[in-house]
Amino acid sequence: MTRGLKAVCGLWAGLWAAGLAAAQAPTPPDWSGKVCTPSAESGGAGRDMQAALDSAIDAIARERGVEPARKRSLLLAALARSQACYASDLTEEQIVEILRRTSALPPGLDARGLRFETETRAWLGEATITEAGSGRGARLTYSFPADGTSWGSACSGINFILPSALDASLVQTFGSLDRGREYVRSAIASYRRVAGLTYAEVPDDGTPMTLSTAREPTRGDIRIGGIPLGSPTFQPLAYNAFPQGQSVSTCAGGDMVINTSAFAGTSFLGATNFDRRYFRNCIAHEHGHGLGLVHTVPCNGQKLMEPFIYASRELLGNDDIRGVQRNYGDRYAGNNSQNAARDFGNLTTPSLRSVIERDLSINGTGVVINGLLVSTDDWFRFTLDSAQTVSVTVAPTGATVPAGTTCSGSTLDPVPCVGRQASGCTGTVGLVNASQAGNLATELRDATGLTVIDSAGSAPAGSSETFTRALGAGTYLLRVQDVGGTVPGNQTLQTYDLTIRVGTALAPPVALAGLDKLATAGQLTTFIGNHHSRAMEPGATIPTANYAWDLDGNGSLELQGPGQTQTTYVSNGTYAVTLRVTDSNGRTARDTIIVTVRGATTSLTSATPAALGRGLTTPVLIRGTNLKGVASASQIVVAGSGVSVTGTPVVNGMGTEISGLSLVVAPGAATGNRSVSVSNADGLNAGANATAGQLVTVVDRPANDECVAATQLGSGLGPYAYTTEGSSVSAAAPCPSVAGSDVWLAWTAPATGTLTATLQTDFGFALAAYASAACPPGAALACAESGPVIIPVQSGGVYLFRVATDAEGQTAPGLLLLSLSIAPGACCAADGSCSLVVPASCTGTFVGGATCSGVACPQPAQACCAAAGSCTLADSAACASSGGTAQGPGSVCSPNPCPQPSAACCRGSTCEVLAPSLCVSPGPGIGALTASGACNPPGVSVGACCLADFDKAGGRTVGDIFAYLSAWFAGSSYASIQSNGAATPTVGDIFGFLSAWFAGCP
Ligand SMILES: [Zn+2]
Repeated sequence: MTRGLKAVCGLWAGLWAAGLAAAQAPTPPDWSGKVCTPSAESGGAGRDMQAALDSAIDAIARERGVEPARKRSLLLAALARSQACYASDLTEEQIVEILRRTSALPPGLDARGLRFETETRAWLGEATITEAGSGRGARLTYSFPADGTSWGSACSGINFILPSALDASLVQTFGSLDRGREYVRSAIASYRRVAGLTYAEVPDDGTPMTLSTAREPTRGDIRIGGIPLGSPTFQPLAYNAFPQGQSVSTCAGGDMVINTSAFAGTSFLGATNFDRRYFRNCIAHEHGHGLGLVHTVPCNGQKLMEPFIYASRELLGNDDIRGVQRNYGDRYAGNNSQNAARDFGNLTTPSLRSVIERDLSINGTGVVINGLLVSTDDWFRFTLDSAQTVSVTVAPTGATVPAGTTCSGSTLDPVPCVGRQASGCTGTVGLVNASQAGNLATELRDATGLTVIDSAGSAPAGSSETFTRALGAGTYLLRVQDVGGTVPGNQTLQTYDLTIRVGTALAPPVALAGLDKLATAGQLTTFIGNHHSRAMEPGATIPTANYAWDLDGNGSLELQGPGQTQTTYVSNGTYAVTLRVTDSNGRTARDTIIVTVRGATTSLTSATPAALGRGLTTPVLIRGTNLKGVASASQIVVAGSGVSVTGTPVVNGMGTEISGLSLVVAPGAATGNRSVSVSNADGLNAGANATAGQLVTVVDRPANDECVAATQLGSGLGPYAYTTEGSSVSAAAPCPSVAGSDVWLAWTAPATGTLTATLQTDFGFALAAYASAACPPGAALACAESGPVIIPVQSGGVYLFRVATDAEGQTAPGLLLLSLSIAPGACCAADGSCSLVVPASCTGTFVGGATCSGVACPQPAQACCAAAGSCTLADSAACASSGGTAQGPGSVCSPNPCPQPSAACCRGSTCEVLAPSLCVSPGPGIGALTASGACNPPGVSVGACCLADFDKAGGRTVGDIFAYLSAWFAGSSYASIQSNGAATPTVGDIFGFLSAWFAGCP
């Protein structure tokens, strides 16, 4: 099925007539609305195009007056000469136009051969040229020639050699130059991910494009430029030289030529869908040529190296992986012996970990390249710290030819049905059984490699091999082999996935941060971590926010979240940029690339502290740009005499701060401003040296620099001025925030309370307070950075304040502001009570203290009643000690409040126990009488009161009778003898009295 055809990247054999370049262009196809997914593409595009091509060939052949079959043959033969990419879905008219101009077919449409096709030469090691198919790794440098560099080569058949204009196109298309280049790098990183290929970017010296294969230190092995070739409707999107063109093309050297005309609009290289997959696929396709790969057919959207660019799938397919691994091995290329085993590390420490490795490969059996047998082995090593059950599985990958498959040559043939073709996208195809190219076997050996512990190898080609083994602690070697059965048509190389399952532990994902690269200081530098990072466990994903970056190379992942990010470097040097990805199982993986920053401008912007005390050695923090290369104190110079620089510079990750240095000011150094210079010849195209005028100032040390010379503030609340300029750092920092240059102030508390001390400065400062006037003052009561210090103070106490620079270290004048919240204390009121009030609110005596408990307030005099009923004035304590009874606050003796002794009060017929003072006014005609003792009961005539002595005149007399009767007639209750005065007297009472009267008094 033909799907996703977007451009043809072909071998262009045509002879370009420069004079025809301005020929009228046919109407471009309408690219808008094309969706680059398999389901959205019809299956007929390839067949339509083939039909159009066939018609066009015939038309051209007739036009040129030659026999069509011979012309066709010539055209097909010419195809194998150069590389170019073309837009797909060309109309017959457009193809005819191309043929008219070039006398050639869109290249590649007739490329013959099995899936994955390679030129006869490939890179090896440090970019030397070797016979293709060796499965050995290579390290390639790459560079981007600046705009204006003469670019393009006639070897392509496209005789355009023009000033490169790629930079401008990338800036316009991607927003910044490095972002555009990073998409190029990301596309090339496809090969780093799967093959034994590493890349390092180098500067480009601007030499015109050459076909040289020799490494030049001043430019990349692979150079990537671009020139305007015209509309991609019938001009190539790009072409790329092979490592060393021999069988297919004379183009050599691996350089890339991108058609910058194809960035226009939002189609072709300007298409943005799938994160610019069309562009990335095209770049990856072109670089595939640069690695020795040539076009594969049919055009069914399964292989990046098909002659058409598609956006329906991402980058390399299995066949492309097989092709590049045939030339360069897998990403662990070189692990062909025990000693070179790829070490997976400790799988039990720090935590249990399994290993899943996908897209590995073995390069067949019995293959000899350059006289060397291509190894059939992959070796791995792992270590266990504890006994574990370990399962090893090697599973061949790649398409399998279903039983009974036959090939028609149609692009609708199933995936394995590929191979030779007659022309275009159809032809005579064969079967490539990629899953059975070899027959895998595996062995587990001990650390010496001498003893085979377990093995699996009996399954037929195309089947997984697996064993499970309980293993003790130790180091083990694992060997994966191709044990033969190679069918040449299957192309030797066998891809496989490897799983080492330790217990039930999960395997981590794979991170890939791009390629080692160059960055230009002061320009946005882009990082892409989400194009190639992958979760390995089935079902696991890498959530979009699970990327973390260390962009300044200081070992700390300062940025959490995005899969793509950017930063701006301001300092030359190399930065180990690390990407960490965390999959949905919480497992992590890291990848580090080296970013080399060039072109920075050296500057100094500040020194902290800027004021340096005479006679002091002051640690300073120097800020600026391009300081990463400062490795010696000698690179920093302070103008004038008397100031020298000591210490070992410690530069922060971004090269913007130097710590670790101190400025030594001689006691006799002249005061005043000094300029500071930095020398930084880092060889990375820097503005290497810089001088900043008046960066530091030499001043006298403040008088209160030391504790013993603390400024005496008295007991006011300020504000008090101070300056830390030129001060030294006191020993024994009281807390982490108070550790810089400092001065001292002493203050006496005028009252007990809570003191709030605040600094008012233009810089961040720290303050410590001590409850002592001694030096050194011992532990601080409190420390604070920027915020106020709040401490309890006792009236009359002396407190030390230490004002220090904060972590920034800048010295400056400032003000100390104090606020005293005076504490409430015990207050004795005039009435002897105690309450908690502030001193100003105490109307009595302020005793102080936080509570009234235990406070003995002086008590006022009050009435004190003696038992005898007398009253004197005394305080409650004295009254109590005299045996009296205090009558309470405010009580007085006049009138006498004291209870009097009781006595029998005899009035008439009654006897009542009353205080003597109450025994008065007994009633009409009855005189007051008093007597002591208890009363006799009512009706009883003898006792305290003698009833017969009614008038209380003493003894029984006749007068008592008259007195009684007088009272009886008056109805006095005193005459009510029987009820002892409780009722109106009755006649009975008269008899009662007379009876008592006759009885007389004792
Ligand atoms: Zn191509």
